[in-house]
Amino acid sequence: MARYREAVCKLCRREGDKLFLKGERCLSSKCSVETKAYPPGQHGKTKRIKLSDYGLQLREKQKIKRYYGLLESQFRTVFEKASRKKGITSENMLKNLESRLDNVVFRLSFATSRSTARQLVRHRHLLVNGKIVDIPSYQVKPGDVIQVRDKSRKMDVFHNSVKRVKEGQLYPWLELDKANLKGTFLEVPSRADIPVNFNENLVVELYSK
Ligand code: SF4
Repeated sequence: MARYREAVCKLCRREGDKLFLKGERCLSSKCSVETKAYPPGQHGKTKRIKLSDYGLQLREKQKIKRYYGLLESQFRTVFEKASRKKGITSENMLKNLESRLDNVVFRLSFATSRSTARQLVRHRHLLVNGKIVDIPSYQVKPGDVIQVRDKSRKMDVFHNSVKRVKEGQLYPWLELDKANLKGTFLEVPSRADIPVNFNENLVVELYSK
């Protein structure tokens, strides 16, 4: 499958925002958004471009797509599915993104980044309701239990990641049993609960052209 292979910190610098693509480093003082607070490229420091409406819509779409680690065609598919559902398309889109198995594994702190979570899912380390699911885009449903496979439980990646979660720090739509590396997706989060400051309506405007 196609994959972005450049330095991911450049993506954050391009969007002027932290997209949390590198695990621990994103929370440290080494984060490039803080150490190089200007866009990448030769003229990044000096050139300031005033964006058109289209430019703003495009940048917001890129930001959301990159935050969740999707390629254009995958992101477009998520949008199309969201637009066919009842309700507000922009909210449906974010809820669908939040319900992806790779995102849930990341939010449960089984991995320090979404890309690691995706790899762990693909390598068949996770169970959903007791069955192996190796599809990162799998839509988790309310009540689903996500658990690390017995034979993968000794892997440091899970323990190192999960031990960072402090009491009461987890998202309200998730429940975590740290000792058993097991989590429950209690409900689809409401837009207000999703901790992102995107203007997702701009994506709807962009794709409606
Ligand atoms: Fe983005 Fe993380 Fe790199 Fe900071 S360290 S620029 S948040 S990927």
